[in-house]
Amino acid sequence: MENVLNPSHTLVSCVGCRAMVPDLPERYGPAHQYLGASPGCWHIYGEVNARMFPSMTVRGLCADTYMVQHPGVPSRQSIQSVARHLLGLYWALEHELPFDKAVKAMSGAPVGQFVWLDPPSSPGPLTVVDVAQETGDAARVEVIRQWAKTTWEAWRPHHQTIRDWASLCFP
Ligand SMILES: [Zn+2]
Repeated sequence: MENVLNPSHTLVSCVGCRAMVPDLPERYGPAHQYLGASPGCWHIYGEVNARMFPSMTVRGLCADTYMVQHPGVPSRQSIQSVARHLLGLYWALEHELPFDKAVKAMSGAPVGQFVWLDPPSSPGPLTVVDVAQETGDAARVEVIRQWAKTTWEAWRPHHQTIRDWASLCFP
């Protein structure tokens, strides 16, 4: 497979997280049409996802963070996706809810109340590129945690809305 982190690639700013990523053709792009990620960024995320995760909780944290940093444009699917992944971050970071409990809670999510939340003006200081560049297993988990925390922090203007939605998941 082509090494997309090869330094000879021209770099572009990802439309979602704004990280500098290889300028890859559209065919490398996200499978989900509603996801606002540049093809090079999506490809790096695929490489990160192909590595081992110590737990489903860390894997979930990685997915939730990536998705909310690439919210795309308002549509039924993007509204559902961003809302669910922000709820995932909320439970993982503010309640340290393990993955299986978060999945259970999500089944009660008030989907009908989800609305588009305007993404923060800055997506946060860390991106999937920082995770991809970390080669040590333990250090990579720590970068994922920091990436999740700083991204959740970037969404602070919407924290109360997420808390309100979360409170409806536990009737
Ligand atoms: Zn990106």
